[in-house]
Amino acid sequence: MGQNFLIDPSTAEMIIRKSGVDKEAKVVEIGAGLGALTLPLSSSAKLVYAIEKDEALANILKDELKIQKVKNVVLINQDIFEVDLGAIAARERKKLMIFGNLPYYISSQVLIYLIGARQAVQQADLMFQKEVARRLVSGSGTKSYSRLSVLLQYYAEIRRTATVSAHLFWPVPKVDSEVLQLRFKTEFSPAVQDHELFAAVLKAAFGRRRKTLRNAMLSTELNIGRDGLMEVFEESGIEPWKRAESLTVEQFVRLTNAIDGYMKRL
Ligand code: SAH
Repeated sequence: MGQNFLIDPSTAEMIIRKSGVDKEAKVVEIGAGLGALTLPLSSSAKLVYAIEKDEALANILKDELKIQKVKNVVLINQDIFEVDLGAIAARERKKLMIFGNLPYYISSQVLIYLIGARQAVQQADLMFQKEVARRLVSGSGTKSYSRLSVLLQYYAEIRRTATVSAHLFWPVPKVDSEVLQLRFKTEFSPAVQDHELFAAVLKAAFGRRRKTLRNAMLSTELNIGRDGLMEVFEESGIEPWKRAESLTVEQFVRLTNAIDGYMKRL
């Protein structure tokens, strides 16, 4: 099921050390499993919210925390997508540090979730399949550059902090993993004016990535029309026959803001 448990304590320690987590940090761990990261996190951070969806695993971890007399872990047997990170940060009066060795099939969804909760999140150190990590950090002009690369690179500074070999997990996955550290930005230049529109522009552009931007964006729910499109391309200095993968993050921001301006003038 794409669930791979980390079985190497020194890797867990290394990930935690590289995160810079300290005794003041309030941490949320996504998918705590049997506690490979949870336990060392509990000795490095002030408080750990350990989120685990699977009830059987959560029960085992609960007993383990009791046996080890760990007092600063709040175990939550819930799906991460039902956890309100904003509410946790508000209660703790502090932005959160997120950790997770995520199952492969929820990694994109988790990123989108974290972007939505970015005001509550300072940093996220997450383990991905190597290929997924590569795609997220890839730049314009490459095949692997995607909607999510642009979104993530706009909202966060991304750093690759570690490569973790497949044999350090159980069951052993087919590919190695990589840890990405995301630091959510608080200042942007240029800044997106309308975040929903930004997401819609990326969806339109990358949804038909083989088409020219003009054609990709004409046939979508953006509802802008030929004339409008020519105007916004002109205004943002982007050539309409380019393809999504050749635009930089900044160009996507300018294009979004030009569309926003155009819609408001209508
Ligand atoms: N962090 C542990 C476990 C990794 S396996 C380790 O490194 O060893 C991934 C874990 O995420 C599993 O325990 C799985 O049950 C949990 N999980 C999967 N989907 C989840 C979700 N939507 N919300 C919370 N936990 C989830």
